[in-house]
Amino acid sequence: MEKAIQNVMKKIDESWEEEVQFTQALVRFPSTQGNEEGVQRYIKNKLVEMGLKVDMFDINISKINKLPGYSPTEWDYSVSPQVVGVLESPQKKGRSLVLNGHVDVVPLGTERYWTRDPWGAEIEGDRMYGRGSTDMKAGVAAMIYAVKAIQQAGIKLAGDVILQAVTDEEGGGNGAVACLERGYRGDGCLVPETFGQKILVGTGGIIWLRTVVPGIPSHPMAGLQRTNAFDNALYLIQGLRKLEEEMNLVRHPSCAHLEHPINFTVGRIAAGDWPAMAPDQCVFTTRVGFYPGTTIEEAKERILEHMAGVVREHPYLKDNPPEFTWTGIHCEGCLIDPETDFLRLLAKVHREITGSEAETMYSPGSADHRFWPLYYGLPATCYGPNGGNPHAHDEYVELPSMLETTKVYARFIMDWCGVL
Ligand SMILES: [Zn+2]
Repeated sequence: MEKAIQNVMKKIDESWEEEVQFTQALVRFPSTQGNEEGVQRYIKNKLVEMGLKVDMFDINISKINKLPGYSPTEWDYSVSPQVVGVLESPQKKGRSLVLNGHVDVVPLGTERYWTRDPWGAEIEGDRMYGRGSTDMKAGVAAMIYAVKAIQQAGIKLAGDVILQAVTDEEGGGNGAVACLERGYRGDGCLVPETFGQKILVGTGGIIWLRTVVPGIPSHPMAGLQRTNAFDNALYLIQGLRKLEEEMNLVRHPSCAHLEHPINFTVGRIAAGDWPAMAPDQCVFTTRVGFYPGTTIEEAKERILEHMAGVVREHPYLKDNPPEFTWTGIHCEGCLIDPETDFLRLLAKVHREITGSEAETMYSPGSADHRFWPLYYGLPATCYGPNGGNPHAHDEYVELPSMLETTKVYARFIMDWCGVL
């Protein structure tokens, strides 16, 4: 076994340059929501070239909309295919493993605030820059090259390895739900989100709330305007902020160490057609966080109850109430026991490869790993390279950490699935 491991590590080192180039190719696809087909075809070709059993398919809403974890989204999935490649074990005596990474990336924001080409995958020192580099194409490349090294070393695994490249992680997670529905579950799932080589043991709940705020259009000569939809929206946003602070006063034990674990982000707002005309409507969408242990229904109830109180206090909105709609991600919080076989094995492999103890982490965000433990009773976590600025300008991944992570994946696959 020791010799086999050494062989695989050598293969990873030898193909490191190729792995970096593959990551650059992935980052150069601007795979924002609805634009993932190019990168998915590229990954599919790679998996075919590696001789895996490859399946490319679309998300079929009618097949998944009754499943737990489904998010009621509003966008079109016909242009966002999923790709699965299976390295089949000749004997299937061991445990199988899913490695699941997403290829969808969030938008750039205002491009001129980037100091690097967001789609250039430029390398400077130890860093590769670009949207999607750390979130999470480096992880996707690392999981593929870990499997490739095992193949190149001539090793036969005792269990199947199932590579999944999914979309919609940023918007809901329905790509992963579709893979699970199609039967690609494995006996455990590792998601290579780039969380600084820490082992994820907890994530928060997330829902998106769209608020449509009414107002009355008027000419400035009408005098003091108390019905401007934009002002009404600002009032409601302050109401949401109050709830956010209230929720942060209580600390869930899993994130007692975090300064501000519950986060509301107003990510989108639109109103108005003309500077001298009060807008008749303002629409804004808020990402709302909540603690694990709270159900989605409980979270919704609490928010609506709080906002009903806020609306009642407003002279115009109390008679002209805003509309609240839940759109996009419906994600429950998820706590993972670090003492399960799966996580203990990952910690052991991390120690063997890096020579240091793995830290665990709680994220107020979430990831696609959650479906496995929450709804299928299967172990899962996230572990991936170090990087910075996800969902911000000048996103980057650290290449030495990516190389080390590729080795951790390869060794973890060999230990979890077993070697024949
Ligand atoms: Zn991600």
